[in-house]
Amino acid sequence: MQTPHQGHQESAGHGHGHHAPPHDHGHRHVGEDMLSVEEAHRQIMACFAPLEVEEKPILDCLGQTLAIEVRSPLALPPLANSGMDGYAVRRDDIIGASEDSPRNLRVIGLVAAGQVSDQTVEPGTAIRIMTGAPVPSGADTVVPFEETDEINRRSSGRTLADIDIQADLPLGCNVRPAGEDVREGDLVLEAGTVVRSAEIGVLASLGLASARVIRRPLVSVLSTGDELASLGEQLSGGKIYDSNSFSVAASVVAAGGIPKVLGIARDSLEDMHRKLEEVVNSDLLVTSAGVSKGDYDVVKDVLTERGDINFWSVRMRPAKPLAFGMLRGDPVNGTGKPVPLMGLPGNPVSAMVAFEMFARPAIRTMLGRKRLGRPMVEGILTAPIYNSDGRRVYARVEVEKRDGVYYANPTGPQGSNILTSMSRANALAICPDHLSRKDAGEQVDIIMLDWNEEVDI
Ligand code: AMP
Ligand code: MG
Repeated sequence: MQTPHQGHQESAGHGHGHHAPPHDHGHRHVGEDMLSVEEAHRQIMACFAPLEVEEKPILDCLGQTLAIEVRSPLALPPLANSGMDGYAVRRDDIIGASEDSPRNLRVIGLVAAGQVSDQTVEPGTAIRIMTGAPVPSGADTVVPFEETDEINRRSSGRTLADIDIQADLPLGCNVRPAGEDVREGDLVLEAGTVVRSAEIGVLASLGLASARVIRRPLVSVLSTGDELASLGEQLSGGKIYDSNSFSVAASVVAAGGIPKVLGIARDSLEDMHRKLEEVVNSDLLVTSAGVSKGDYDVVKDVLTERGDINFWSVRMRPAKPLAFGMLRGDPVNGTGKPVPLMGLPGNPVSAMVAFEMFARPAIRTMLGRKRLGRPMVEGILTAPIYNSDGRRVYARVEVEKRDGVYYANPTGPQGSNILTSMSRANALAICPDHLSRKDAGEQVDIIMLDWNEEVDI
């Protein structure tokens, strides 16, 4: 579980004197019927579990989670092979060899990678061997070309029918034993492993063309509101473009889900009902707008009618209003499966932050991930962040690292409609519920959304 706030050292000792008691003057009722972030998180996460297993070609598994452990059907390498280009020899034949006192061996053959020599290295003989080629029987050590007189022989036109070994190497030198990397039957990848490029390579090295992974969740994304215009439409009459469909769908992809963009539902009963028909078979429906407490909203009516949905106020800023519950299966079209619904607030930043805090961990649980939280760091604020009403503030900041220290630069106006300040941010800095502000120079907990730490090369 993401615990950005648990274990947080509330800054009781930093002496700025801005502590606000929980029921401060002017804020008397704030927070009273609000859910803490942790409680909302707990109730939501109780409704999600890893999805079913699917088997697919390994290259299609990137970013998914292995559903079962992988044991090796073979040894890697399958045969002892050479780690160098050189001569496969019997170590007993080269004891004491040096440039001044070389050992002359008769070269009886050549073995390249992908071949198995049918010759045996008898005492006094060697087989020329290339990197990766199986070490012939009889041989136990490989002497690299550089430790022989091969170059001299070539340049002076002598044959390679025999070779001078100019070094005494330890037994087994430059021989990669069979099973050095993996033995047959070894546990190579545990269930729950995230499939990255390296895991795809490991699977291929074991000869496995497909893998059993937890399938990605299908997440329906629905925007609601009469004021919304689709991209490509001419704006008029107080309309705004629907940005939530896009930021949310992109966040679904980034979290590892598959978005199904349903578009805009107008604030009408028919439109809402019609859109909800399209939600069947989704693992989650994420809506935006129309969930504020006290608002009359057709969205709330329809959701209440179609499911067991709670409309919450969460003690956080942005993203106080949040709906969560189960949308009942539709008896009409026969799909009985209830779909979890998360109703994000409409303001674009609120929608993104609520997604981050609640939808992303849900998606990652379904994806089979065990660790659900973003990386967190502690850093120094470079400008104050304010908390006017006892809610936990997630301030948009740009984090940079200077001389080994993280600095959190607030990205400007923190209104929940100011989407460009989200775009400038790579992290969220936390002002705890009970503090009325965090000042420049103070330490803050930071949830990293992106690292932006790549450097010029
Ligand atoms: P609501 O939650 O319905 O009160 O909406 C809060 C604010 O978010 C209003 O200013 C809406 O216009 C805005 N809003 C709602 N949905 C979207 C959307 N899909 N894209 C951009 N802004 C939206
Ligand atoms: Mg609305």
